[in-house]
Amino acid sequence: MSKGNDTARTPVHLYVHVPVCRLKCAYCDFFSVAVFDLPMSTAELAEALTRQAVAWSARGLDARPLETLYVGGGTPTILGPSLATLVSSLRECLGFAEGAEITIEANPDSLDDRLVDLLAEAGVTRVSLGVQSFHDDVLRLLGRPHDASRALAAARTVRESGLALSLDVMCGIPGQSMGSWVASLEYAIATGAQHVSVYPLSLESGTPMAAEVLLGRLAEPDPDVAADMMTAACEILTREGFTHYEISNYARPGFESRHNTAYWSGKEYTGVGPGAHGMLSATTARAAGLVVPDEVARVRYAIACDFTYGLDEAPRADIETLSAQEAAREDVMLGLRMMAGVTVASVEDAELTAVLERMAGLGLTECVDGRWRLTARGWLLGNEVFSAVWAGE
Ligand code: SF4
Repeated sequence: MSKGNDTARTPVHLYVHVPVCRLKCAYCDFFSVAVFDLPMSTAELAEALTRQAVAWSARGLDARPLETLYVGGGTPTILGPSLATLVSSLRECLGFAEGAEITIEANPDSLDDRLVDLLAEAGVTRVSLGVQSFHDDVLRLLGRPHDASRALAAARTVRESGLALSLDVMCGIPGQSMGSWVASLEYAIATGAQHVSVYPLSLESGTPMAAEVLLGRLAEPDPDVAADMMTAACEILTREGFTHYEISNYARPGFESRHNTAYWSGKEYTGVGPGAHGMLSATTARAAGLVVPDEVARVRYAIACDFTYGLDEAPRADIETLSAQEAAREDVMLGLRMMAGVTVASVEDAELTAVLERMAGLGLTECVDGRWRLTARGWLLGNEVFSAVWAGE
């Protein structure tokens, strides 16, 4: 268990999940509903999310101002002005530490000048824009409700407002050429974004895109093509002055995501909203009134994907408990996602050291300057390393 997690406190990192989108994208299997299926108004949803965050924070824990807030989804910007109200209400009820990072995930189809102004007034510091591509044919295939010109306009609006901008872009899409991918990256850089997240398309069963592949109407994504595109992204972005600080993430100096870095560093965080996840030390979970057996070191929870039970002030949730050994392995697994890796001293488990040495023999990890980290090959085959670390063999 991380040594920093052994005292009860309110976690200072809060994730709020807004599982609503304009339409469902063709490849998406996340829990989110199309806005016309939402069983309440967007204002009511924003109020219920605020109530749940405040109720959680009030469950017997010391109140501490938040250091990071991440409102993700889904498409949080679909809440419109209610999103700014949600951020202001959280400031009023929970408080933000000085210099807190407040990120809103946005999609280009639901972000305009007026909303960006309202978000900036509410204290939002960063917008993570789900662009995916700057090519209309690729966006159509993904079933995204925006086109390239809308994406460029949304990015410009965020930059002109003075908020930090992060862009999500996706590679390994059937029919996407290397030329189209490189051009999308160049557009992303040209927007002035300070942070870029690069993801390969993952074909999920049950999605419209998976059905197209099954019917033979769409080629299956090729992992080798995706790996080549990830490598090209790394070369281009690092050449342009971005630091590759996590498997999928690149930032200009000082613009790394503090919220996501907390996840990868084994820090506690609370999550609210249907489908949200949270992670607490056993001590904090007990202080919050959960019954946690002595042998448990860490508690993870996932709130019900349901607008009745998942929005309650005491929502239904699936709970997973981890022993001290499991928590330590999880810390190494998450820490290896970051290019800085983990210190040799933090890997106290001899079995885990043996795993990392075996992975080094396969060219997937390396030990440099007292830290274990992934090699360039290990970065592309991260899941192989992570499952070995988790299994301890
Ligand atoms: S915007 Fe994101 S969460 Fe919403 S349907 Fe598309 S991929 Fe899924």
